[in-house]
Amino acid sequence: MQTPDQVNMLSIPDVIRKKRDGETLSDDDIKLFIGAVTEKSIQDAQTGAMLMAIWQKGMEVTEIESFTREMMLSGEVMSWPQEWAGQVVDKHSTGGVGDKVSLVLAPVLAACGLKVPMISGRGLAHTGGTLDKLESIPGFNIQQSSEQILKILGSVGCCIVGQTEKIVPADRVLYAQRDATSTVDSLPLITGSIISKKGAESLSALILDVKFGKAALYKDLESAKKLAQSLGREGNGLGMRTGAVLSTMDSVIGRNVGNSLEVIESLEALKGNGPEDLMELVTTLGGILLLMTSKASDLSEGRKQVLDVVKSGAALLRFQAMMEAQGVAKKTAETLCSAHTDYFSVLRKSEHQTELRTLADGAVTGLDGLVLAQVLHKLGAGRSKAGEPINHSVGAELLVSFGQKVEKGTPWLRIHYEKPSLTPDQMSRLQNALTLGSDSKMQTQSLVKELLLPN
Ligand code: URA
Repeated sequence: MQTPDQVNMLSIPDVIRKKRDGETLSDDDIKLFIGAVTEKSIQDAQTGAMLMAIWQKGMEVTEIESFTREMMLSGEVMSWPQEWAGQVVDKHSTGGVGDKVSLVLAPVLAACGLKVPMISGRGLAHTGGTLDKLESIPGFNIQQSSEQILKILGSVGCCIVGQTEKIVPADRVLYAQRDATSTVDSLPLITGSIISKKGAESLSALILDVKFGKAALYKDLESAKKLAQSLGREGNGLGMRTGAVLSTMDSVIGRNVGNSLEVIESLEALKGNGPEDLMELVTTLGGILLLMTSKASDLSEGRKQVLDVVKSGAALLRFQAMMEAQGVAKKTAETLCSAHTDYFSVLRKSEHQTELRTLADGAVTGLDGLVLAQVLHKLGAGRSKAGEPINHSVGAELLVSFGQKVEKGTPWLRIHYEKPSLTPDQMSRLQNALTLGSDSKMQTQSLVKELLLPN
């Protein structure tokens, strides 16, 4: 005999049909779907059909809320000591070229007194991943259990780790299926995937860096803003104070691109020598988190706190302590963090470096970051499929700044590569990626275009 609940309950094919026909799914429908995904009682064909139905018909706000919550509850939800209440924070970026902000921001925030359990990802397609960058440091272990994360946060204040097995298991399954069914670029699916994982970290506050432009997933401000609003609504809905920054991603962030080269630039930033655009992002994202956790009374006070812990060296010390806590030998961490160090005594340097020279006189007005990232990807800096190995030493250093006047023949880019070798076609693509003009407008352009702060 069936209970009244079982009589009213739909089957998986019913739920798929409902979405396929553009109806709104109930909380129970979504619970059924996510439950079946988590328990692996659903067939791959059914998951694929459901994902495609969501991709095509979209989701109402109520459905996205329910989807995000059920995803979060599919696994472990972390908990923190009472005395950390209101202080546990994280940041998420939608991905860029040369985006090393997390490496600088995590220790900065720890030095400002916050707790930062930063759960990061690997690079996919042309964008780099924070975990890959950190793994270019010998010994750095991104795999830490919840217990180890708690311990590191207690002693250091920050850690940068991969997603544990227990966090949002439904996302692991859905993400792989989305890749296989061309359903990655769906606003409800992206929102649920990102926010459920942040919700499972039980954060007090979250800042999102949503990028738009030539080298970003979203090409225009409007579509990036829609995503930022959706992520912000769901983050706040789960009880995390969630803010977003909309920032341009047309060229590169800072001067270095590629895993070990980005570690070097991050360390230089923590030593007070960060490029202006990188520091703009670090101070803005950090300043907002300090504001949202009431550590700062306004954004400019928050920005100042960020700069102060860089200037005093406190943030660099946190990075050193984080490396040691995550498996790096004391001597290696000390070498990387000391002044005027030879980074390549610790990090692997690529076998070959080639400098490209400008083909004309002019002022540097642009660089297509997507082209640079695509070439570096082909040279081994990135991966095309999850699990593929990468070459941490491959990368590029931008040798000129925007607005700088150059004469024909000025070295403007140093490419670090091994095997495969840099081809003439790649060199010509890179030369075409640099724009030389007659003005120096790019010099003072800020990357941050809009802030979306919670009430
Ligand atoms: N990052 C995620 O974790 N999920 C997405 O869907 C997109 C980016």
